[in-house]
Amino acid sequence: MLKIGHEVVRPGKSLSDASVTIPVPEELETVPGIPINNREVDWYSREYPLETMNIDERASRDWANAIRDQHVEMREIRKEHDKLNRPLIMAARMSAEQEPTSSASGSDVTEQIKSKARELGFLEVGITNYDHRYSYASKKEWVQFEHAICLAYEQDFEPTQTIPSIDAEIVHSSTYRTEGAAALELVNYINTLGYHGQVHSPNDNTGPYIPMFVAAGLGQLGACGYLLTPHVGSRCRIMIITTDANVSYDGPVDYGIHAFCQVCQVCVNRCPGRALMRDKIWWRGMEKNKLYFKRCRPVMARYLGCGICMKVCPVQKYGMQEVMQHYAETGQVLGKGTHDLEGYEIEGKGYFGPGDLPVFERDFFSAMPHGDTEQWAFESFKEKAVAAGGVISDELMEEFRQEVARGLSQNKDNIGMMEEEDYI
Ligand code: SF4
Ligand code: SF4
Repeated sequence: MLKIGHEVVRPGKSLSDASVTIPVPEELETVPGIPINNREVDWYSREYPLETMNIDERASRDWANAIRDQHVEMREIRKEHDKLNRPLIMAARMSAEQEPTSSASGSDVTEQIKSKARELGFLEVGITNYDHRYSYASKKEWVQFEHAICLAYEQDFEPTQTIPSIDAEIVHSSTYRTEGAAALELVNYINTLGYHGQVHSPNDNTGPYIPMFVAAGLGQLGACGYLLTPHVGSRCRIMIITTDANVSYDGPVDYGIHAFCQVCQVCVNRCPGRALMRDKIWWRGMEKNKLYFKRCRPVMARYLGCGICMKVCPVQKYGMQEVMQHYAETGQVLGKGTHDLEGYEIEGKGYFGPGDLPVFERDFFSAMPHGDTEQWAFESFKEKAVAAGGVISDELMEEFRQEVARGLSQNKDNIGMMEEEDYI
C-alpha cells in the first residue's frame, strides 16, 4: 500500500449520495490545480490573445464538416443539433439582459445557486472569478459579470463506451443541449435572487473553460486535454454562467491527476492519430500535455468524431475514487492493458485491442487545410498561380475574392460545437 499524502472529499454523484473520499498517494502529489506561471499567462493573453478554433482554424473546420456530411447519419445528427441548438444559443446571448425579478438580500447566495444547479441536473458546480486572460479575442467585450459559475453535465455512460459511434455522437450533442437549457433555467433562478446571470453556451464559447474549472477545484487537466472530474472524468460537458451575485469562491485541488497521467498514459498509447504528447511542456504559462491538433482533427473528421481518448480513460470509466484507491493499493492503473478499457472499433477499419493501432497513409493528415478561411484562400490562390506559371486569370481572382468574402461573413457567426481542440 502506497503512503497516502492527502484525501479529497467531494459531494456524492447524485444529490442523495453520500460524499466520496479520494485518496491521493504521496508520490502523486504536485500542486493544487495545475503548475502555472502567471506572468507568462498574462504576457500571452496580452500579446497573443486566444481566438476560437471556429475562426482561427475555420478552413479545416469546413473541410472536416464536408467530410462528416458525406456520412448520412452524421449529417442528420449535425443538422438536427444545429436546428435544436440555435434557439438555446440565441437565448444564451441575450441572457445577461434579463433583469432581476426581486431585490437582492445582500447575503451570500453561493449555496442556493449550487443547490439549484444540482437540482437542475448538473453533476459538478464550483465558483471562481471569470478570468479574462482566457477570453477569445472576438468575445472579450461580451462578458459582463465578474464571477464564473462552472457547471459540468454528465454524458450518459453506455453510449460513451461505444466511442467512436453514431450513438456516442447523438449523446454528445444532446448533452450540450440539455445543459444549455438547464443553464437558462439557472439564470432565471439567479434573477429571482436579485442578480444577473449570463450563460456562456458550450457551443458558443467565450474561451477555453477548463482553466476556470481547475481554479474552482472541479478537477484537473488530463493528458487527453479534457478536464478530469472526480466522478466521471472526461465524460461530461462543461459550460459557465457569469454573474454579479454575492458568491464565495472555491479553490483549486490536487487530485493527483497531474502526476497520475504520466504513469497512466492509456489515452496517449491508444490515440489512433498519435495526437497526444507523452511528456508535458510549458504552453502559454501552464505545464501540460499538449494536443497535436493537426493529427487529431483529421481522425475526428473521418471517424465519427473519434473521442477514443475519452473512452479509454480509466477515470471516465471507473471514477477517480476507484482509480486512486486501486493505484494506492497496487501501484497499477485500473483497467490498463484490458480490452474492456482500451479496445475500440473504427468504422471501416475494424477492432483494435491493447497495443494495436490503425495505420493511415501520409496524406490522411496532410490533406487537411490550415488557418482561417482567408489565409487558406490565399494559400490556394498562390499555389494555383504558381501552377499556372505565374499567370493570374480573372477566374482565379474571382475565386479568391469569393472565398475571402465567405470567410469575412463566417467570422460574424462563429457558433460551433465545442471540440477536442477547443480545450487548449
Ligand atoms: S479525439 Fe483526437 S486526441 Fe482523442 S483519440 Fe481521437 S485523434 Fe486522438
Ligand atoms: S487515460 Fe490516463 S493519461 Fe489519459 S487522461 Fe485518463 S488518466 Fe490521464
